[in-house]
Amino acid sequence: MKKNDRIQALRKAAEAMTRGNFTPDIPTGDDEIGHLGKSLKKLSDYLKKQSERSQSLYRIMVECNLNLHLIDVLNHIYESFQEHLPYDRISLALIESGGTKLKLHWVRAAYDPLELNAGHSISIVDEGLQALLSSDEIRIFDDLSDYLKKFPNSVLAQAITKEGIRACLVCPLVADGKLIGFVFFSNRKKNSYNDTHKDLPLQIASQLSVIIEKTQLYRGIKLNKQLIAQKKSLEQRVTHDALTGLYNRPAIFDILHKQIQRAKRGGFGISVIMIDIDHFKAINDTYGHLAGDAVLSEIADRLTQSARSHEYIGRYGGEEFLAIISPYDKTGAAKAAERFRQAVACKPIQTDQSNIPVTISLGVAASSEQKTTLDADLLLRHADEALYSAKHKGRNRVEIADGIG
Ligand code: GH3
Ligand code: MG
Ligand code: MG
Repeated sequence: MKKNDRIQALRKAAEAMTRGNFTPDIPTGDDEIGHLGKSLKKLSDYLKKQSERSQSLYRIMVECNLNLHLIDVLNHIYESFQEHLPYDRISLALIESGGTKLKLHWVRAAYDPLELNAGHSISIVDEGLQALLSSDEIRIFDDLSDYLKKFPNSVLAQAITKEGIRACLVCPLVADGKLIGFVFFSNRKKNSYNDTHKDLPLQIASQLSVIIEKTQLYRGIKLNKQLIAQKKSLEQRVTHDALTGLYNRPAIFDILHKQIQRAKRGGFGISVIMIDIDHFKAINDTYGHLAGDAVLSEIADRLTQSARSHEYIGRYGGEEFLAIISPYDKTGAAKAAERFRQAVACKPIQTDQSNIPVTISLGVAASSEQKTTLDADLLLRHADEALYSAKHKGRNRVEIADGIG
């Protein structure tokens, strides 16, 4: 294949992956382009695995919500994640009898015989179990013979080591903020688990908690779901704007003050970006207030979707938004502002009646890490001035305030 054709093939493969095809044809070889192909192949394998993992998790989530039997879901879990997590045994145990026992409800292993079978109970005062109960964080045991040495009288430690288990990942099950039991992922090889293995069991455990709560298998917890839902929705209403779903003005101010405190402690700077819709009054006048509302809401969605995890966006006023970038790096804030500008300007907004082209203007102010410049009022004033200048220079643009640090 000619060089250009090979590059073209790699480009096509990369594009196919962005569309969710993780098994495209990827030419490889021993020259530079070939090595790039090999790396791309590794990436495609990784993405394929991640995608299968997400699909399995999704299926399990659906099953939990469909009220399938807990046992069926557990079996499904056992069969679905072997490629992603090194276990040869999974078990589920719940705290029962008024908190006096840990009872094993289900276990499945790739070997037999088992020392700890379903139905087996361990007293809560068991010293090995006490060590588990002391925290509701996910825990990794690299070598259980150490655990037995530490707790030689523990029935739990004796039984699991006798069974041949050497490493264990213990994931607590929590419902209504209360520890209700554990899922144990175990392996007969020492040092089987590391921090990268924690994420998946946590997600599985949170789904299992849902089904346990639903089937009321764990009778100790009587959740008043309606009450919890009401509390959540109240919290949401207090901090979020109803039309756009963004943080409301008090909430984004609160975030700004907290981020400033954090920046002072951490010795870094932050940026704020003031955002204002261009000629929004004309949009209301031409298409009506309802269409105006739809435009506001869509702009909020576009801003949120294009924001990174350390960028907070709130509705500052009627058609004005405030973004906070923390920690900020000097070029980052201007780039973020440009990213927001493009996210809005890139295509017209579709409303019930028409396609409305909309743009925004943005004013960026950045503080240095010096404490005197880390001041909310100062930042907001400078961002406002920069925004004014962006409007003045023709709108649909980003202006950066002269250095305040
Ligand atoms: P500029 O480019 O200078 O920003 O012009 P503009 O028309 O966007 O600015 P102006 O301040 O003149 O008008 C802002 C308009 O935004 C006026 C107000 O009615 C409208 N607005 C504010 N909040 C809302 C809202 O929640 N929904 C709707 N539909 N309009 C709103
Ligand atoms: Mg305005
Ligand atoms: Mg405006």
